Amino acid sequence: MSNLQLLRDLQGTLDNLRTIERDLSALPPDLATLDQKLKAVRKEKAEKSKLLESLRTKRETHAKDLAAADKAIAGIRSHLKEATQKVQYAALIREQEEHERAHNAAVRPMKEADAQIQQLELEVADLTARETAQAGEFAVLHEAFLAEHVNQVEARVTLRAKRAELEAAMAPADLVKFNKILEARQGRAVVAVDNGLCGGCRTRVRPVIASQLREGKLLLTCESCHRFLYLA
Ligand SMILES: [Zn+2]
Repeated sequence: MSNLQLLRDLQGTLDNLRTIERDLSALPPDLATLDQKLKAVRKEKAEKSKLLESLRTKRETHAKDLAAADKAIAGIRSHLKEATQKVQYAALIREQEEHERAHNAAVRPMKEADAQIQQLELEVADLTARETAQAGEFAVLHEAFLAEHVNQVEARVTLRAKRAELEAAMAPADLVKFNKILEARQGRAVVAVDNGLCGGCRTRVRPVIASQLREGKLLLTCESCHRFLYLA
């Protein structure tokens, strides 16, 4: 098979695949509603899980501050027992008060975080249960939908295999170029020249290109839109 023929076949295969994908993604109303609900639940769950993660991190910081303050307080207490001079004693007390302030400053936000974490964990668990139930319901209905579209499902398998086969048969450089054009040009990388005009961008093809196209020896592209060309 010529390089051009491979490219044309690949384009045709992709066009058919796109049509099938469109049919298979056009869900009936009940399924579409369920799909939307499921997506919304998943989004909410992701947001809450993220929030939960950040709260846990914050709680961790408060817990560390608290542990550090308590450790310092315990150290000071043992020094206090040994303190013999009044000045030394007063300094230790001041230091202890400072760490007690740090202790109190950590306790409150930590307790608040604990309460929020507990609440969020319940909410996430509830969302997970809803997600599981909805996903199960969706899977059943979707399977029925696919069973009604068994021809398209089978055609999709065949077309995907054909696509892989064609891609494997093509020169890698051609495939890279094809895919680049495909992406840049709304899914159309190979077009016919009709009445001397590029079928993609309607630019007139220069006579020298037109005559090379007739010879059919070279792989040619439109000088304006860069799509691969063939003669209609
Ligand atoms: Zn063009």
